[in-house]
Amino acid sequence: MKACVLPAPAPVESRPLRMEDLPEPQPGPGQVLIRVRACGVCRTDLHVVEGELETRKSPVIPGHQVVGVVERCGPGATRFASGARVGVPWLHQTCGVCQYCRSARENLCERAVFTGWMVDGGYAEFVVAPQDFVYALPEGFGDLHVAPLLCAGIIGFRTLRLSGVRPGGTLAMYGFGAAAHVAIQVARHWGISVYAMSRDPRHQDLARDLGAVWAGGANDEPAEKLDAAVIFAPAGELVIAALRTLKRGGTVALGGIHMSPIPELDYNLLYHERIVRSVANNTRRDGEDFLKIAAEIPIRTEVREFALEEANEALNALKNDAIRGAAVLRIG
Ligand SMILES: [Zn+2]
Ligand SMILES: [Zn+2]
Repeated sequence: MKACVLPAPAPVESRPLRMEDLPEPQPGPGQVLIRVRACGVCRTDLHVVEGELETRKSPVIPGHQVVGVVERCGPGATRFASGARVGVPWLHQTCGVCQYCRSARENLCERAVFTGWMVDGGYAEFVVAPQDFVYALPEGFGDLHVAPLLCAGIIGFRTLRLSGVRPGGTLAMYGFGAAAHVAIQVARHWGISVYAMSRDPRHQDLARDLGAVWAGGANDEPAEKLDAAVIFAPAGELVIAALRTLKRGGTVALGGIHMSPIPELDYNLLYHERIVRSVANNTRRDGEDFLKIAAEIPIRTEVREFALEEANEALNALKNDAIRGAAVLRIG
């Protein structure tokens, strides 16, 4: 199969991903072999490729927003028929027995395995995944347009939930890339007024197009204090900016897996029971709930298509904030 492989982490400008011909992977017990049609490009891929996340498999095929069809099932895998359209997310597998897995917090499993980092992902013509961690995908979405829902969408949804914002409330959204452009549609569906903060004028335009009541720079403050904030950009100083916009008792939820250091902050910014919390991965329940609501709304994703051979270019564009919406590799 054709695959886009990372031999060793390096800055994307040096084009670290290389096309290779590899043997097709074989589905083990409980696994499915999936013929990939599209794979979304996530900022976490950039962190894997550039080495902000430590190397866990080398070489590795990145990609964890994989859309494809089941080609073949391994021993004992009967959940999906051949030809079923499925999605493979970041959460590849959990242990199922630890305290987190047994208390509906499998996103925190200490033995969790992640797609496109610890095992090969979807920047390739085929991928294998455990059937229990694969999603059946709602109809009504094209392959390219459903791909960004699998991480940007699901993580954005969990971030919204953990921000504690209530229907009818007000929300600050920092960083207006793939996750935010989906999360704003869920927030508006819940009757939430969204204030978008981005350094990039093109992202501010997209936010207004998607119904933000206000769009401004990352350090601009809306006239009124807001109920909650979510941060999708990997810049620690945004935590300070977000705390400044918050009402008493409000939460700032951080949606990224990697962030630059958070600067020292004045305790007054945190006082009055404001909360800063991270979001780590997602449970399968988050994914199922989100895909259901995504189909109901229905969510429309804006995507920029790249060929598999252009994965370096796609990541470079993402790094430079040059993607409106989400980047997706067309593979099948
Ligand atoms: Zn576990
Ligand atoms: Zn991701």
